[in-house]
Amino acid sequence: MVTQNDSGRFPKGNSKVIASQSTFGFNFYNSYARLPASLFSFVNPEPVPAPQAVVINEQLAESLGLSAEALKTAAGIAILAGSENPPGGLALAQAYAGHQFGHFTMLGDGRAILLGEQITPSGQRYDLQLKGSGRTPYSRGGDGKATLGPMLREYIISEAMNGLRIPTTRSLSVVSTGEKIYRETALPGAVLARVAKSHLRVGTFQYAAGRGNDKELKLLADYTIERHYPEANRETNKYLAFFKAVIGSQASLISQWMLVGFIHGVMNTDNMTISGETIDYGPCAFMDVFDPTTVFSSIDHHGRYAYANQPKIAAWNLARFAETLLPLLDTDQEKARDMAESALKDFSAQYDEHFLHGMRRKLGITSAKDQDKILVRDLLRLMSEHKADYTNTFLDLTFQRFDQSELCRSADFVKWKVRWEERRNQDPGGVEQGQELMKTSNPAVIPRNHRVEEALRPAVQAGDYGPLRKLLQILENPFAHSVEQEEFATPPEPNAPPYRTFCGT
Ligand code: AMP
Ligand code: MG
Repeated sequence: MVTQNDSGRFPKGNSKVIASQSTFGFNFYNSYARLPASLFSFVNPEPVPAPQAVVINEQLAESLGLSAEALKTAAGIAILAGSENPPGGLALAQAYAGHQFGHFTMLGDGRAILLGEQITPSGQRYDLQLKGSGRTPYSRGGDGKATLGPMLREYIISEAMNGLRIPTTRSLSVVSTGEKIYRETALPGAVLARVAKSHLRVGTFQYAAGRGNDKELKLLADYTIERHYPEANRETNKYLAFFKAVIGSQASLISQWMLVGFIHGVMNTDNMTISGETIDYGPCAFMDVFDPTTVFSSIDHHGRYAYANQPKIAAWNLARFAETLLPLLDTDQEKARDMAESALKDFSAQYDEHFLHGMRRKLGITSAKDQDKILVRDLLRLMSEHKADYTNTFLDLTFQRFDQSELCRSADFVKWKVRWEERRNQDPGGVEQGQELMKTSNPAVIPRNHRVEEALRPAVQAGDYGPLRKLLQILENPFAHSVEQEEFATPPEPNAPPYRTFCGT
């Protein structure tokens, strides 16, 4: 039995010894539970009637220092379902607030419970959280539960993001609960085990700042800096350094979304992490045809979170974050505001640089020239005009397949291609090295919406998990460019109805 080690906020080392004491390998510390009590509520997950493992992420389990074998036993599944507490954890729901579609609201973990922070054999700290494990003090009118389809969808897409090398929360398992959950119809219940560097959000700071207690806010900021940006401690104004570091993480993250055509769908401030990981796989989806105005979410009527708006929205969210930090930045609030504003101005330049850097890689260009921006802009414009598939256009360029799409056969594209080839010929890396770069920068597969649905349908309707496992395997290494990935690269039928996603499922 593991005993909780409470000897310090961020103790290191000793983890192997402790892990060996537990069959599962749980090696929990509970630093969040030592923050001011207003920031969370202790609450246990609700036991479920008939937990059954649907999918367990063996590779992730092992990297966390957990035994996948032990997790697959009845005792392990009971923990992943929330029926039993893991040894050493202190279950709690986190408080947070957030701007939802621009409107400020009090929120909190309404259907998620943090089990504890797993310290891995290499000394890294990850939150282990259950999603869908019952009501908490923040559930408002909700049932605290989740259903199988959306939890499997989060598993697929978050793991696909990880395969794409984009910072993200991970999925350790989905367990079906044997319960019926009532949405529009009765649906099978499920619990997802989510792994994250932390679940600290912009909304966590909004919640703390909203209480007007600067001491608590400072404790939260110091904790977060220690956990995610310890290098800020060395700066004269560590809170400004912290803010700048978060700006940097988000500029990089959002550029990576844009480069793969990922649309988050619900970039509320409570769904933006401080760590820079993608979180909240509700209404997200990948774009097929390149169209900057693409929106999948059924409730995003005005396109606030449309593909092309994502960088702007990230900056808006960061401005809300800055507002929470003002009391810490300087005693003179006027000065604090100036500091925050000038730091925030840098977001868009950083974002542009990351995006352009990524686009150069996608085009097989190893050096930087100013006019690359125009080359990229013109390609994207052509893709939009010719309704070209975003992912596959880059694959066509990578493998020189210029007879595959209407875009590539068009006269406009042929002209663009001459400019691109000229640029590649001048590139010090050369054309061959450029092509290798393209293979590692342009995914062979993304989790296409119709493919995700084809895997979910038999899983949810008939307990047939074969297609799900196959899809997960295909998405594990999207840069493999294997023969079996080819059939998963096909876009939906042109006459397929527009794909729609939903919140709060
Ligand atoms: P989201 O749109 O997923 O970011 O969720 C917004 C808020 O609604 C969060 O505070 C969630 O915890 C809460 N929430 C979503 N679904 C449920 C549910 N079934 N029961 C209770 N709270 C929920
Ligand atoms: Mg959320």
